[in-house]
Amino acid sequence: MRKLCAVMVSILTLALVATALYIVETTSTTAYHIAYLLLALLNTVILYIMFATKEREVHHDYRALEQIAFKDALTSLLNRRAVDNFIDKIIARCERDGSKFAILYLDMDNFKAINDTLGHDVGDSVLVGVAKRLRNLVRGNDVVGRVGGDEFIIILDEINESSLAFITAERVIQSFKKPLNINGHRVSVSFSIGISIYPDNGVYRLSLFKAADIAMYQAKESGKNGYKFYTSELDDRVKKSRSVNLALERALTEEQFVLMYQPRINFNNSALHEAEALIRWNRPKEGLVAPSEFIPHAEKSHLILSIGAWVINEVCRQCRIFCDRNQPTQISINISLIQLKDPEFVVMLKQAIDTHGIDAQLIELEMSESYLIQEAEQVIPILHKLRALGVKLAIDEFGKGYSSMGYMKRLPVDTIKIDRSLINETLINQKDKELVAAITALGHVMNMSVVAEGVEIDKHLEMSRMLHIDAAQGFYLTEPLEADQLHDFYKAMSAKIS
Ligand code: C2E
Ligand code: MG
Repeated sequence: MRKLCAVMVSILTLALVATALYIVETTSTTAYHIAYLLLALLNTVILYIMFATKEREVHHDYRALEQIAFKDALTSLLNRRAVDNFIDKIIARCERDGSKFAILYLDMDNFKAINDTLGHDVGDSVLVGVAKRLRNLVRGNDVVGRVGGDEFIIILDEINESSLAFITAERVIQSFKKPLNINGHRVSVSFSIGISIYPDNGVYRLSLFKAADIAMYQAKESGKNGYKFYTSELDDRVKKSRSVNLALERALTEEQFVLMYQPRINFNNSALHEAEALIRWNRPKEGLVAPSEFIPHAEKSHLILSIGAWVINEVCRQCRIFCDRNQPTQISINISLIQLKDPEFVVMLKQAIDTHGIDAQLIELEMSESYLIQEAEQVIPILHKLRALGVKLAIDEFGKGYSSMGYMKRLPVDTIKIDRSLINETLINQKDKELVAAITALGHVMNMSVVAEGVEIDKHLEMSRMLHIDAAQGFYLTEPLEADQLHDFYKAMSAKIS
């Protein structure tokens, strides 16, 4: 249309110029004047049409740009800017009419794992599927937005009581129990949801967001796939927990973690050097902090993945040093369930072993009995993969919980470490002594080595030998040592127990 107008304007302008020249050259008549005026008028009309068309196109482009600016390109939900505008508008309205609204802040629990294992295209389709499902869960006047990679917002406008927020959060959790179907992949998705209410938890947009974020963080820490309403007590707890996590992150980058090694004495082979690596946090002001004080935090925030990777690399590095000194030593590493379930765990372990060029048999992974039994179905295939790498596997803290002999048979492990509480009881309680004897016999039938933990007095050591336990560790032998002290200890000990 614009092209046609341009051609016509050009022809008419030429005609105008030609007519003007002709009028100048010849004596003008009224008819010529009229023709000239008509041509000029036509030219003006065409120019007007051209500008009007252009104006409409620019306006249309602007509307399209505006749409892009307020919509999330992937999911077509409102984007962060649009959500902010919407909240500001309803805050202004609520101030006038005294009504309430709720913000549900949803953070996907497993998006990184989906992206890492299934790829970014599937990840994108998951976000689109999630957006569709969320939109179907809310009322017509509620708003759903995507405010970050895997973060969504639901705004429940004009709620009379917080029960609607509770019902909606519950519906989200229930609805995502059914996996999404993404190009034939069944993808399970779950959310941690934080809820804040206007005006109870804040009267400004930012304070409401902050409150919802704190509640979401708490929902994550409470085991994910759930929701929490903001409370001021949560605020304190989350602040504390966030500051510990920041300190732990700094500890990693500033190399504040150290490993101590507690030797394990093997009764059948004193030449076999074995030790357990135990982490300590050397805090600049506080000094050495025990693992019980920071490992649970690290597990909650999943920082245990980076801390655990550091431990594995450090143990492999130390193992290499021992081998180079001709003192090959088998080192046990404690592994948290979160590490074991991490899809990258097996590859990371193999990489560490290969990088330091050590024999995989020199690494033993200790996993606590409680999670091995409770999560057996999920964990057993991972144990088989680990065994295929050549590393040894041990059940830690055995006898602390209630073991299931059925599962014991199915767990592909090399070592049972009898918990120190049970070792302690053997001197007081005959039944516990018989239990330890039975566990040892069972372990041997299943080709496992049996270790007594928490050998604190000479009687524990005597009893361990009497019950044919294979190895022992505990304060009676020594407390955890620095790596460089380990082999002096073995030398002194082999003379003592041989
Ligand atoms: P655990 O695997 O059962 O480790 C043995 C704990 O018992 C160690 O405490 C050790 O110092 C202590 N111990 C050793 N002998 C005796 C004894 O005769 N009597 C008594 N009362 N205690 C004894 P620690 O070093 O404080 O470690 C506590 C727990 O922290 C460990 O229990 C383990 O579950 C966890 N942990 C330690 N290092 C790591 C690590 O690198 N990664 C992970 N994920 N967890 C770790
Ligand atoms: Mg252990």
